[in-house]
Amino acid sequence: MDAKAPITQDVLTISRKAPEGPQNLIGLCRDQMRDALIAAGTAEKQAKMRAGQIWQWIYHWGIRDFDQMTNLSKDYRAMLAETFVIELPEVVTRQISDDGTRKYLVRIAGGHEVEVVYIPETDRGTLCISSQVGCTLTCSFCHTGTQKLVRNLTAAEIVGQIMVARDDLDEWPVPGARRVETRLLSNIVLMGMGEPLYNFENVRDAMKIAMDPEGISLSRRRITLSTSGVVPEIARTAEEIGCLLAVSFHATTDEVRDRLVPINKRWPLAELLDALRAYPKVSNSERITFEYVMLEGVNDSDADAHRLIKLIDGIPAKINLIPFNEWPGAPYKRSSNNRIRAFADIIHRAGYASPVRKPRGEDIMAACGQLKSATERARKSKAQIARDAGL
Ligand code: SAH
Ligand code: SF4
Repeated sequence: MDAKAPITQDVLTISRKAPEGPQNLIGLCRDQMRDALIAAGTAEKQAKMRAGQIWQWIYHWGIRDFDQMTNLSKDYRAMLAETFVIELPEVVTRQISDDGTRKYLVRIAGGHEVEVVYIPETDRGTLCISSQVGCTLTCSFCHTGTQKLVRNLTAAEIVGQIMVARDDLDEWPVPGARRVETRLLSNIVLMGMGEPLYNFENVRDAMKIAMDPEGISLSRRRITLSTSGVVPEIARTAEEIGCLLAVSFHATTDEVRDRLVPINKRWPLAELLDALRAYPKVSNSERITFEYVMLEGVNDSDADAHRLIKLIDGIPAKINLIPFNEWPGAPYKRSSNNRIRAFADIIHRAGYASPVRKPRGEDIMAACGQLKSATERARKSKAQIARDAGL
């Protein structure tokens, strides 16, 4: 960390140490699971194999009951049941939008709640998961950013979101059945609540579990992590997770980006772009997604589109234009469809893919940036939201 004043508030970070009482096996990486089994009395020579067996039951077959782990002896299963639990976050409510989008409200330890969104499409199904309760950052167009209470999710709570969605979609494999090629839940985006790079280790551990070939087995190319621009953690994302990267870019001058994405005051555009140019995957021509929310009269001019093209010159990129999703009290308006089209055309003509993200699940407040725990009481006032937006 450099000497500049941090702009984050304090995060109530959950300790990564195991809590008292039966230990949850969810969220442990393979080595941690092996160590936990040794600590519970499993012979060192056998522990790796046992961890592998249990891993498959939990993450490949979706089993939650030790008694169903039939390749383990009865006594061993009894020991496991006494020492460990297999515990997922609790789904409190599930809403289904007219367009098939599902939004789950999920309760985690401490009574906190986070939202998880499942978006079905013809060729894929994407789960948008959260990495924090709330967010310490205060992007002025984002509903989550108005939530004061913040806590990092544990690795168990992050991978648990994927598992509860697979439960709901009834997608755990059935023994003996043929493998289904097109999965209902085929892609993960870390685009729910929170800044994933402010919870790096837990996000990394959870994604490693999701990618493990003997479990949920999602390819690294089907996982996209979205960051607002935590520059020092960007290279680590490629090295330690290896997933695809999306960046909440949203503006083409520091002056505007400071207002929209305040983390820009700490790591301005030039530093962010340097980090993106150096992103190790870029050398393999893996494209970075630039997210760009379309806000009427703020960042949506032709001049912005031209500046954007100049800024990202040399970076393999896709520009994802997101029509602003409104939320109660939001200080911005969505750009008109004509404006969005004109902006997209300029970018397209410069040779970049510029898909306009179709808002999904708006009727259930499940669209990008609309997520916010309903139970969260400490809200910012309308006046404060406007002040933060520099209005
Ligand atoms: N914190 C991370 C990931 C979560 S937000 C990040 O900021 O990148 C996922 C995307 O939705 C981000 O690009 C975010 O800027 C965008 N977003 C937030 N609020 C929005 C809104 N009201 N309308 C449209 N997009 C929004
Ligand atoms: Fe946090 Fe992302 Fe929302 Fe900004 S856009 S407040 S970083 S969740």
